[in-house]
Amino acid sequence: MKNKIVKILILLILLVSCSSPQELDTDETEVKFTYQVKENIIFTEGELIDFSDILVGNYDSYEIGSINETIGQHVLTVTLLKDGETKTIGVPYTIKDKTPTSNYYLKSLEFEGYELDPTFTKENDVYTVTIPRNLVSFTVNAETDDPFASITSGTGVVQNPGYDFEHHITITAEDKTEFYYLVFVRIDESESIMNGDIETWNGYDINYPNSQLATIRSDHLTLVNKQYRLQESYVPSDLVYVDEEYQVYGGAHLTRPAYDAYIEMRNAASGEGLNLKVSTCYRDYDFQRTLYTNYLSQDTQEVVDTYSARPGHSEHQLGTSCDFASGVLNIDDFTGTPEDYWMRDNAADFGFILRFPEDKTDITGYTYESWHYRYIGINDAQEMKRLGVTLEEYLDQ
Ligand SMILES: [Zn+2]
Repeated sequence: MKNKIVKILILLILLVSCSSPQELDTDETEVKFTYQVKENIIFTEGELIDFSDILVGNYDSYEIGSINETIGQHVLTVTLLKDGETKTIGVPYTIKDKTPTSNYYLKSLEFEGYELDPTFTKENDVYTVTIPRNLVSFTVNAETDDPFASITSGTGVVQNPGYDFEHHITITAEDKTEFYYLVFVRIDESESIMNGDIETWNGYDINYPNSQLATIRSDHLTLVNKQYRLQESYVPSDLVYVDEEYQVYGGAHLTRPAYDAYIEMRNAASGEGLNLKVSTCYRDYDFQRTLYTNYLSQDTQEVVDTYSARPGHSEHQLGTSCDFASGVLNIDDFTGTPEDYWMRDNAADFGFILRFPEDKTDITGYTYESWHYRYIGINDAQEMKRLGVTLEEYLDQ
């Protein structure tokens, strides 16, 4: 290059001093088209294609041939012009696709606060990840390695992920093509450790470790609460299936005596134009564990313990407790219904007691539940109602 510049300078001196035209043409043709082409000329599909700075050199101007704007590698024809002379050269360039083409554009997924297995599974754009249940919220960071695409949604903080849920991630390419990915987030159920009868789950005690095993009584007065628990294997022997007509969701079971008492009570209520149904009654230990640990993913344990029993500590496992419903309404809507008022007045006459009254939360350990009744037999229920006490107080006497 330096040599050529020297030659150009010599030529210019010659041009000034020499008077012969033939000699000038010959020399000029040899030296005037020195140029250098820019390397790696790459444009993106749809982008303004500008060849104004693709080469430098010793010429007056240049003209470019037709531009191929399709994706791929092309050669542009460039004609250099100087002093009426021309020289044609080929300049390679590339038009790059700006659309993600691979199905594997979601490069990685990170769940803050939880080390995601880098070998998360992917099948048909569905990713599955497993997170601990006690994660109340977490941040999803998605990544793509396509330079022409960006992740436009689906990242960010997820609050209360719940039991199992779906999370969507969208990648938008520069041409606005959108790629959807479904991330199915599973709750890890595997971290349950039994130490004798006491279970821990993801580091949480999910029984009350200082509780005692309940004494099973034959008179319907078995006490199950935060202090007394049932073994995981405890299943009442005389469960009967509640007639579908009398339950809201299906699947409800009660012990035979509790069921018979419920039917009698329901008939009495029907006689007054009410529709007294049940939502859930008997729940086994596993069901209660699922409920309880699901709540743990939404609230702190301190809060959960005010409204949900730890597995083994639920009266529902006795098969003598029900959450009542008004007609087709959910239990959450039970408070204040005609059925609710009727139950407050009449349930004891059929052997049922309101188990978690509004003014006894310090004794029962649970917030008021207008819908939760426990069958204990008519005599005891009526006596308890007369005394205005909880089962804890009643058995203490
Ligand atoms: Zn209940």
